[in-house]
This record gives sequence, C-alpha cells and structure tokens, in this order.
Amino acid sequence: MGMISKIIGLIITGAGAVLLFWGMNSDPTYSFIWFLIGMIVMSIGFGLISGGKQPETPEPPPPTVTEIICDNLDCDFKELRDFEKGDYILKPIDATCPKCDGSMTIHGIYIIREKEEEIQI
Ligand SMILES: [Zn+2]
Repeated sequence: MGMISKIIGLIITGAGAVLLFWGMNSDPTYSFIWFLIGMIVMSIGFGLISGGKQPETPEPPPPTVTEIICDNLDCDFKELRDFEKGDYILKPIDATCPKCDGSMTIHGIYIIREKEEEIQI
C-alpha cells in the first residue's frame, strides 16, 4: 500500500512538473494559472510520497503510575496504581490506608518505559 501511494505520488509530481513547465512556455495570460495548478499538483504528489514513509498510527501515551504512600511514619504502606487525571505530587488521597486507616498522599508520578514492565514495590 505504501509502495503504491509512493508510485502514484511520483506520477502526480511528474504531471505537476510537466504542467508547471508547460505553463511557463504557454500564453503569458494563462501561464500563471498553469504554474499555480502545477505547484498544487506537485505538492499533492509530494504529500503522497512522504505520506507513504510515515504511517499514520499515533503512538499510544506511555503508561503512567502514581505512587501513594501512607502519611503515618510508623506504617510502611506503599501503593502503585494507574495514573488518574488530576493526580499530582503531594495530593492527599480520599481513600484511607488499608493497614492503619490513616490518610495517604501521592509521593510520585512515574512513566513506565516498555522495558521496565515489572514494577518492584
Ligand atoms: Zn498506613
């Protein structure tokens, strides 16, 4: 598919170039119009060529996790959960600690790289 659009792009670019040069040698009244059409056709051709090189698949956002730590200094509860909209560092969490029922705070937001799929808590 990419190869075909590349070939079509080359043909269109070539046709645009022919129009452009033909326009420059034709009647001065219309040469500007042919020149313009040639430029537009060529830009479409170039678009097809470069479009074949870059597949239009948007990269998914990197997985992000939020680190929650219990506010109680004697409690060592730590949790990593998926990042949610509105999360920020030092934001107090509505949920209470499952270990000591104390309040919890966000202590970090991390982006996981694909190679580091396993998280050690
Ligand atoms: Zn706790």
